[in-house]
Amino acid sequence: MDFLHPTTWEEALAAKAERPDALPIQGGTDVMVELNFDLRRPSALLDLGPVRELARWETLPDGTVRVGAGVSYARLITELGDRLPGLAQAARTVGSPQIRTRGTAGGNLGAASPAGDAHPPLLAADAVYEVESAARGVRLIPATEFYLGVKRNALEPDELIRAFRTAPAAGPQYFSKIGTRNAMVIAVCSFAVALFPAERRVGTGLGSAAPTPRRAYAAEEFLAAEADWDADLDDAVAERFGELVRTAASPIDDVRGTAEYRRHALGVLARRALTWAWHDHRRGARECA
Ligand SMILES: Cc1cc2nc3c(=O)[nH]c(=O)nc-3n(C[C@H](O)[C@H](O)[C@H](O)COP(=O)(O)OP(=O)(O)OC[C@H]3O[C@@H](n4cnc5c(N)ncnc54)[C@H](O)[C@@H]3O)c2cc1C
Repeated sequence: MDFLHPTTWEEALAAKAERPDALPIQGGTDVMVELNFDLRRPSALLDLGPVRELARWETLPDGTVRVGAGVSYARLITELGDRLPGLAQAARTVGSPQIRTRGTAGGNLGAASPAGDAHPPLLAADAVYEVESAARGVRLIPATEFYLGVKRNALEPDELIRAFRTAPAAGPQYFSKIGTRNAMVIAVCSFAVALFPAERRVGTGLGSAAPTPRRAYAAEEFLAAEADWDADLDDAVAERFGELVRTAASPIDDVRGTAEYRRHALGVLARRALTWAWHDHRRGARECA
């Protein structure tokens, strides 16, 4: 197995163009497991660890936060928790301190597992993924168009993920996950919500609920149409929101849970996460009054 060791982004893109068969490795928390268990035997590894451009984040002139694919979960929590609270909450649930120190949201996107914890909050927050190739330059892919199937994403063989971009939270955001224990657990199902009070709308993201992470559009549209943003959340509205999230799922039975349990749990997670977010929204509105 060849080991490619670029030190700049340009070198990494050139290496991927020359060797589209090379498997990128960032934190290695997915890749090394696959190699150790002989689930994958790539002809080459493309080590992105030394590429400093991937380990940076910045705020663009229009206020958008652009986060390099190599920023670890630990740094998402400590450096971006105020701007991206939904993603930071999800990051806190990933693996263990060791996994959060090595693992990255970029690697989560590369793996594109339906259970990946970064996907629901990025979907809910309208994130856009920045991918690049030496031949065709940058492509910006909305999160909703990135996931093509189980562990399949929209990357071309010569492309690498450079960053994700998202506006800083415009309102309360929450992430909620069910696992068989509290830590080191892959989601049985997960749910993220982001409120956009100025626009009177809500974003959603579902994990471990379908072949790909997805949004619950009917639930979002229902809330935009029915919720009174100047009042406390009506129980019936929260209940209906949960039902619509539940019906947006098309889960499977597997070792972690049955499809029926997942549907039920998603409805509960959605209702609770919305209630927490709405509570924060109302408290914020009262404090400003
Ligand atoms: C013990 C343990 C616990 C875990 N717990 C969780 C958990 O709770 N939640 C969760 O979501 N995941 C969990 N994982 C899985 C893993 O940690 C995450 O998916 C993590 O986000 C992977 O990031 P990484 O940087 O280590 O990726 P890597 O392993 O380096 O790469 C993952 C995939 O992405 C590709 N890739 C990486 N960077 C790029 C790039 N820039 N461009 C293109 N492709 C790229 C790789 O080729 C590979 O296919 C766990 C793993 C372990 C071993």
